[in-house]
Amino acid sequence: AHLDRIDAVDGEVNAFLHVDRETVLAQARRVDERRAAGERLGPLAGVPVAHKDVFTTADMPTTAGSKILEGWRPPYDATVTARLREAGLVILGKTNMDEFAMGSSTENSAYGTTRNPWDLERVPGGSSGGSSAAVAAYEAPLSTGTDTGGSIRQPAAVTGIVGMKPTYGGSSRHGVIAFASSLDTPGPFARSVLDAALLHEAFSGHDPMDSTSVPEAVPPVVEAARHADVDGLRVGVVKEFSGEGYDPAVLARFNEAVELLESLGAKVVEVSCPNFSYALPAYYLIAPSECSSNLARFDAMRYGLRVGDDGERSAEEVMALTRAQGFGPEVKRRIMLGTYALSSGYYDAYYGKAQQVRTLIKRDFEAAFEQVDVLVSPTTPTTAFPIGERADDPIAMYLADLCTIPANLAGNAAISVPCGLADGLPAGLQIMAPVLGDDRVYRVGAAVER
Ligand code: GLN
Repeated sequence: AHLDRIDAVDGEVNAFLHVDRETVLAQARRVDERRAAGERLGPLAGVPVAHKDVFTTADMPTTAGSKILEGWRPPYDATVTARLREAGLVILGKTNMDEFAMGSSTENSAYGTTRNPWDLERVPGGSSGGSSAAVAAYEAPLSTGTDTGGSIRQPAAVTGIVGMKPTYGGSSRHGVIAFASSLDTPGPFARSVLDAALLHEAFSGHDPMDSTSVPEAVPPVVEAARHADVDGLRVGVVKEFSGEGYDPAVLARFNEAVELLESLGAKVVEVSCPNFSYALPAYYLIAPSECSSNLARFDAMRYGLRVGDDGERSAEEVMALTRAQGFGPEVKRRIMLGTYALSSGYYDAYYGKAQQVRTLIKRDFEAAFEQVDVLVSPTTPTTAFPIGERADDPIAMYLADLCTIPANLAGNAAISVPCGLADGLPAGLQIMAPVLGDDRVYRVGAAVER
């Protein structure tokens, strides 16, 4: 049924980069065989999932939305991919994304923009916009994403679904094509909080293949999603995330969600996190710095595209030609920014300073969590914007992640749940908890999801 739905709508939505009916049906038959052989499979066995094209898959191409990886077949499955298979989920295909996960609209994909199912002239968010659109358009009940600065929560918010960024290190980066390694975090998309928790549980947990994987057990997220209860819970409204630049209709839905929490017995207070205002500029030094280093591996020798290898040109010339043709403009902008910020003489002024700001943001969270159990804010300042509106204005594009970035810099758990429509388009409520407080955001999310 999902394959038929993809056939019917994906010509317009463009959520998928790769779908192969035979590979999908073979996976489904394998689940039936395992069940027939008496294997006890988990609660999601046989359920289809759309998989972001940033995770390696041994039986499907993996491009990370870039021309430089066109046609590349990874030799191995990412840990998240392998765990989806172990749990018996059926991978429907690979979803579109901003190139190397850099963007907030999916317009930076080398393979065309994904469209928001609510309004095909608008963006589905990004960078995991193919995954959010696939679930919102009922092409898949579940999907995967990665969140480096908001790339799960922001697309979830603007397509009216649930998206969760686990605690950093709570889900494995092994086999995730790297953008910014100290921030990249795989997580789930679903149409309900409980579904997201089930998918979260299926692929998370310690992985010896990822050196930053946390050793602690996955918090009891499914149980939390089943016990929606906020009575007596202390909720902090982040004071800094309102006012200028925020769509009044989005703020109205946010305030209603806060009133709902209060009516369910939560104690709501306003909390100030003064350094959150510096999170965006700090992120746009740290993430490009890490990206400039990570993307050095695309050297025309190891993977994918190779341009101008005529036996005459040097390796350096072939590498330069390949990178010039293989990377899109946003990726090049970030490599240049990052290389500059890391260069000797500028390192302390830019990268070093940004890391200090990162520490201050962590301290803001620590101080806040002495007073409250969770923090809430709108997930995004506005609803889905029209395709093309911000494509030539990087700063306007970057503002889409204003509210989501602090949780990435500090490594905290954070979720976005739908909180109604603002002028006919979905708005999201963000719930943030301390590191390893993943269960808490599911509990609160389940209480208020609409
Ligand atoms: N939009 C942010 C960026 O462009 C976040 C991307 C992400 O989380 N992968 O970097």
